[in-house]
Amino acid sequence: MNAFTYIEPATIEEALATLVRHGEEAKLIAGGTGLVNLMKQRLVNPGCVVSLRRLAGLADVNLDDGKNLLIGALCTHRTLESSPIVREHAPLLAEAARRVATIRIRTMATLGGAVVHADPNQDLPPALIALDARVKLRSPKGEREVPIDQFFTGYYETVTQPDEIVTGIAIPPSARTTGSAYLKFLPQTADDYATVSVAARVALNNGTIADARVALGAAASTPLHARVVEDALRGQAPTRKTLEQAAALVGAIVDPIADFRGSVPYKRDMAIVFVRRALGDAIAAAGGAVI
Ligand SMILES: Cc1cc2nc3c(=O)[nH]c(=O)nc-3n(C[C@H](O)[C@H](O)[C@H](O)COP(=O)(O)OP(=O)(O)OC[C@H]3O[C@@H](n4cnc5c(N)ncnc54)[C@H](O)[C@@H]3O)c2cc1C
Repeated sequence: MNAFTYIEPATIEEALATLVRHGEEAKLIAGGTGLVNLMKQRLVNPGCVVSLRRLAGLADVNLDDGKNLLIGALCTHRTLESSPIVREHAPLLAEAARRVATIRIRTMATLGGAVVHADPNQDLPPALIALDARVKLRSPKGEREVPIDQFFTGYYETVTQPDEIVTGIAIPPSARTTGSAYLKFLPQTADDYATVSVAARVALNNGTIADARVALGAAASTPLHARVVEDALRGQAPTRKTLEQAAALVGAIVDPIADFRGSVPYKRDMAIVFVRRALGDAIAAAGGAVI
C-alpha cells in the first residue's frame, strides 16, 4: 500500500481538527478491518490515516432517560454480541453482530466502521434499519442525527462528509409485544458474507400485526428497507398466506448481483423465502403464532 502519515488524536476535537487540516487526504480508521483491505487493494489511498482508538467514551453502551439505547461508534461487534444491555434492548442487533465473520474480526470491527464502510453485504445495517436506528455524527460545525434508512447512498457510500465522525447510534425503545429475528443465509461457510440476509421486527396487538420492519442485506447496492412488505403486513392477522403474499413483494424490489454465491434469480427467490421465515420467527419471538 502507499506510504501515509498515521495520527492518533487523544480527543474528538483534535480528531476533527486533524480532518479539517488534511481535508480529502485524511481517512479515519477504527478497527481497520474494512479500510486496510481497501488500502491494500489500492482502492483507497489516504495520505493521512487518523485513528479513533484513543478517543475515550466512544465505546460506551447506555440507556438514556427515554430508554433509547445509545451505543458509541467504537463499540466492537464482539461487545454488541455479548453486552447484556444490547441483548436485552436490541436482541436483533446482538444476533446480527454474532453472525459477522469470525471472533477475530468481531473483536476488531466497530459499529461506526460497519455503517460508514457501507458494504451492502454487511450484517449490522439491515438490523439497524429494522430497529429504526439514528446515526449520530459530529463535525467542527456541530452535531446531527441521520435516520439509518437515509444514511446509505450507494455501494460503499454514505451521507458522511469528509469532516465528520460518526460518534454513535441511538435505537428507540420497542413495545413489549415486539419480536425480532435476523436470518443470514450462508450456504457456503459459516464465516462468509450472506447470500441474502433479513432483519425483521414485528409488533403484535391483540393477535394482529400492529407494525413491522423488514430490511435485507446482500440484496441491492445498499442495505434494502422493504417498506412494501411492511405496508402489506400492517393491520393483518399473522396467517401463513399473509406472510407468503407480503414476502413475495420483496421479489420486485431486490436487485442483487450474480456472483459465486448465486445467480440473480436464485438470490431473488432466497430473499422471498428468508423474508417469510424471518417474519415467522419474529412473530414467534413476539409471543404470537402464524395461523
Ligand atoms: C475477513 C473479513 C470478513 C468479514 N465478514 C463480514 C461479515 O460476515 N459480515 C459483515 O457484516 N461484515 C464483515 N466484514 C466487514 C467488517 O464488518 C467491516 O470491515 C467492519 O465492520 C468495519 O469496521 P472497522 O471498525 O474495522 O472499520 P475501519 O476498517 O476502521 O473503517 C471502515 C470505514 O469506516 C470509516 N470509519 C470508521 N469509523 C468511523 C467513524 N467513527 N466515523 C466516520 N468514519 C468511520 C473509515 O474511514 C473507513 O472508511 C468482514 C471483514 C473482513 C476483513
